[in-house]
Amino acid sequence: MDSDRARERRLMTDTQIRARGVRDPRVLAAAAKVPRHLFVPEALRVHAYADEPLPIGHGQTISQPYIVAYMTEALALRGGEKVLEIGTGSGYQTAVLAEIAGEVWTIEIVEPLARQARAVLDGLGYANIRYRLGDGSAGWPGEGPFDAIIVTAAAPVMPAALEDQLGVGGRMIVPVGTDLQELYLVRRTGQGIERGRLLGVRFVPLVRGS
Ligand code: SAH
Repeated sequence: MDSDRARERRLMTDTQIRARGVRDPRVLAAAAKVPRHLFVPEALRVHAYADEPLPIGHGQTISQPYIVAYMTEALALRGGEKVLEIGTGSGYQTAVLAEIAGEVWTIEIVEPLARQARAVLDGLGYANIRYRLGDGSAGWPGEGPFDAIIVTAAAPVMPAALEDQLGVGGRMIVPVGTDLQELYLVRRTGQGIERGRLLGVRFVPLVRGS
């Protein structure tokens, strides 16, 4: 019996993530460790390690495992970083970040999702996560700069307020666009901001708070 589903996780990590080119050992280790099925609604748990996004309720989705790994690798985390996440959702991406970084500061706008994610993450014993309920479009005021920022819902245009919360040497990964979206990697250097386009993606849109 493999009640923890570790074997499925290893297979997912090898065939969906490593096989597509993700090489960062920290990311591969986190993918093989975090029990993704606990972040998925019970009725869909059988599909938790499949190569696809899944609905998590409230019109939201948990991203495909490969996309979570790809975005995490793009942040180039080495341990100890202070990371901001916009869109806690299921909390799965949050857990992957918490495995690698020093602290994860995560913001979710849908209250029941925030509550559920926190319950699962607390249950798994993650003590390096800070939670906030509300609109994360402007980041976490007063808490920047962050070493890395990840946005897991699509911003209509490049979010300048989040770029402002990125420390020198920091990286942000963010899907930008409405119908056609592209994943951008933003870097703040001593000289200014560099923005690079990585690939076409489909994310749910960032919701504007009131
Ligand atoms: N990383 C998540 C993906 C969730 S989908 C996971 O692994 O499950 C995107 C999430 O962003 C949704 O939960 C949605 O409610 C949230 N969201 C959308 N707009 C937001 C906003 N303005 N501020 C904070 N969270 C937002």
